[in-house]
Amino acid sequence: MARLHPEIYFFGGKIAEGRSRMRDLLGGKGANLAEMASLKLPVPPGFTVSTRVCIYFYQHGSSYPKGLTQGVAKGIARIEKLMGRKFGDRKNPLLVSVRSGARVSMPGMMDTVLNLGLTDETVNGLEAVSNNPRFAWDSYRRFCQMYGDVVLKLKPEKKTDPDPFEELMDRKKALRGVSQDLDLTVDDLKELVAEFRDLIRRRVGRDIPQDPQEQLWEAIGAVFGSWNNERAIAYRKFNNIPDDWGTAVTVQSMVFGNLGSDCATGVSFTRDPATGEKGIYGEFLLNAQGEDVVAGIRTPLQISLAAGRKSAERNGIGEQERKAAQPTLEETFPTVYRELLKISAGLEKHFRDMQDMEFTIERGRLFMLQTRTGKRTAEAAVRIAVDMAGERLLDRRGALMRVEPAQLEQLLHPQLDPKAKKQVIARGLPASPGAVTGEAVFSADEAVAVVGAGRPVILVRLETSPEDIHGMQVAQGILTARGGMTSHAAVVARGMGKCCVAGCGELNVDYAAGAVSANGVVIRRGEYLTLDGSTGEVIAGRVATVEPTMSPAFEKFMRWADAERRLGIRANADTPNDAKVAREFGAEGIGLCRTEHMFFEAERIDAVRQMILAENAEQRARALEKILPMQRADFVGILKEMAGLPVTIRLLDPPLHEFLPKEEHEIRELAPKIGTTYEHLKKVCDGLFEFNPMLGHRGCRLGITYPEIYKAQARAIFEAATELRSQGIKAIPEIMLPLIGDRKEFDILAGEIREVARTVLGNKGARLTYSIGTMIEVPRACMEADQIAASAEFFSFGTNDLTQMTYGLSRDDSAKFLYTYIERGIYKKDPFQELDADGVGGLMKIAIELGRKTNKKLKIGICGEHGGDPASVKLCHRLGLDYVSCSPYRVPVARLAAAQAAIEQRQTKREFKDI
Ligand code: PEP
Ligand code: MG
Repeated sequence: MARLHPEIYFFGGKIAEGRSRMRDLLGGKGANLAEMASLKLPVPPGFTVSTRVCIYFYQHGSSYPKGLTQGVAKGIARIEKLMGRKFGDRKNPLLVSVRSGARVSMPGMMDTVLNLGLTDETVNGLEAVSNNPRFAWDSYRRFCQMYGDVVLKLKPEKKTDPDPFEELMDRKKALRGVSQDLDLTVDDLKELVAEFRDLIRRRVGRDIPQDPQEQLWEAIGAVFGSWNNERAIAYRKFNNIPDDWGTAVTVQSMVFGNLGSDCATGVSFTRDPATGEKGIYGEFLLNAQGEDVVAGIRTPLQISLAAGRKSAERNGIGEQERKAAQPTLEETFPTVYRELLKISAGLEKHFRDMQDMEFTIERGRLFMLQTRTGKRTAEAAVRIAVDMAGERLLDRRGALMRVEPAQLEQLLHPQLDPKAKKQVIARGLPASPGAVTGEAVFSADEAVAVVGAGRPVILVRLETSPEDIHGMQVAQGILTARGGMTSHAAVVARGMGKCCVAGCGELNVDYAAGAVSANGVVIRRGEYLTLDGSTGEVIAGRVATVEPTMSPAFEKFMRWADAERRLGIRANADTPNDAKVAREFGAEGIGLCRTEHMFFEAERIDAVRQMILAENAEQRARALEKILPMQRADFVGILKEMAGLPVTIRLLDPPLHEFLPKEEHEIRELAPKIGTTYEHLKKVCDGLFEFNPMLGHRGCRLGITYPEIYKAQARAIFEAATELRSQGIKAIPEIMLPLIGDRKEFDILAGEIREVARTVLGNKGARLTYSIGTMIEVPRACMEADQIAASAEFFSFGTNDLTQMTYGLSRDDSAKFLYTYIERGIYKKDPFQELDADGVGGLMKIAIELGRKTNKKLKIGICGEHGGDPASVKLCHRLGLDYVSCSPYRVPVARLAAAQAAIEQRQTKREFKDI
């Protein structure tokens, strides 16, 4: 059959013009509807207008390409034919949905209009053909509400106001003394339609059009327009989705889940999105339309009997009561259930990934409305990848590519301490795992403000909507009173890797009073709450947490990753405890031990200050003598924890003024404590003042001017290592000099350190494997790398400083305006988070090539914050580094990113070979 228009793709009947691989053009929803139609699954007919039209719409003053109007009209005609109904017909009207769909899922961010085609005339036709006046008027009521909201933009006036339509609904229910929407009568619904339209006329100044064609085009325009609504823009920014992708619009025949008790609508997953357990998992509502499930207005029922029983058990409901009050889809619609199982298994096999499907049952007949790759927790992602490899749906490499490395961090977050006392005040659905504590706040803006002031929050809402997204992003955890496991709160929190307890019906949330209460306990704004997203518990106050344990699937998955990666993975750790955690997470050494942190400890800082105040080398050496045993003990602890593995210890780096007090009163208090006068201390503080401390007297420049400092540190390291040696513990220290920019700096300092080694090792008569290398964090060091590498045994890129100096951008101050640079599209990402491949990466490339030219054995790593950022780890792999080093909790993230980098490189090589 001929195409309707080059930018319109029809599906349904025997036609499927699109395919799932065309998501760039058709959006995820449109592409997968086409794919389902091509698989002959029961999909209501419709067509998708491509994302190219969206771009055109924005570039041409909200107009459409030539011939699109006729194409859409022909598309409607084709749907009419397949459905045997006519758009705008007063006897047997066709109703359509107009849906948005971007190439990646942006849940709830853009708009959709359902039941389009209803007017004062067609509603009577719908009443007659359905023989169900309640359904017809409920559909019209919903249509007016959605059209008013999405197309005519009738929103709450203030963020704290309730939705104006919901307010009218609530008022009506209160007037009738009922609590459920379903209890409203046909007359109530008719009144509501009139009240909604009255409100629209008053606030918007016009009515909902009574011409279905006009409705259709206004809705198409509104959906395209919703690509640039505030929340969609915020979501794109947060998820790095380019602004120029655009959304597709799918116009599809409506099917109804709200015609009566033989109708339903639901959402189901092919595996449990929270745990990854195999088997259909989902929720449905009898006699309802799709948005009811997602909006979380009514608490939905389980699809499978097994899940229904489990959920009842969790809530202490007996089997008899469950059967009567919460029958599952498996019990209510056994045939449909079997069909759904079959379709679900088929779709998962077809797409080779866990699917999240929307379906509707109209008069006992199943229709598939959507399928997409299901969002999942990190725990589920790992389990699904491992299980699917076991089921031969994927190979190991495919499985490794399935998990987003950054997501793994979620798995490593603390859980509630099982021994801690806790006052559970309510129990909701365990929507997204983890255990968090924070101040209760009741709006997204409040969440942003409190987090901005440096305090953790739990965002408490009746239910969340896309308007709350900015609050959800910053909150530690999310708690809702309504909604199921597929509600907005649950889905979005899971995607963000945030702890969430949803649908906690026992809660009384009072926005006006700023309080939440349950079972007699009241938590007011600013008081602490704790959530356990794995059990659904809501707890008053703060509760201690413990480190997580690794699941067998996780261990297996990480072993697979280790077998693939070429990059070594180390951790940045300054204490024996950090080192221990890092080793447990799979670190193969320490890539950066910052020694200044040891100087800040309460009992040492004064000795450090005395060292700074010293007026000559002798005094300085005496103060350092006091610090030496403490430093030696630190090094013993860390080297012991990492026995047999290399530990890179960086000598003192920050400018000395960081160790001195700043405020006048602090100087006065400190002076007598460290045996000096106020005047002297003040003079030293003033003398250390620098206009540009980050470019000042710091790093190896300290070692050059005060050789005693580095010598004392080197001595502590060598003594610690030999002490361990004598205990039979293999210590492998690597001494690292910061901020080197010239080979002579390195040679002088390395010479002095070797001298110390000779003294210490000579004294103890022990042999020790040690090396001396440098950080590469000054652009000049990159350009002089061949010279420096002739002396240095290793390089470690300090990309925090290297980024700072390459951009000429202060790492401490730039956050204030970097946001604008990202917003205005100058930088794609914050360069302090993700390595800048061109500039900083370019300098690294030069340094690596030059360095390896003069020193074939040169070991090269990275220890800037970028070492734990997946995209940066991948860049480091491509640059040929030997290892990356990152914070302990990001070690598994880096292990997986390194494996993915190796797999991607192999794939690219293969692709080239294929050509
Ligand atoms: C760096 O500059 O990248 C680095 C690791 O050192 P620091 O962050 O301590 O300056
Ligand atoms: Mg640095």
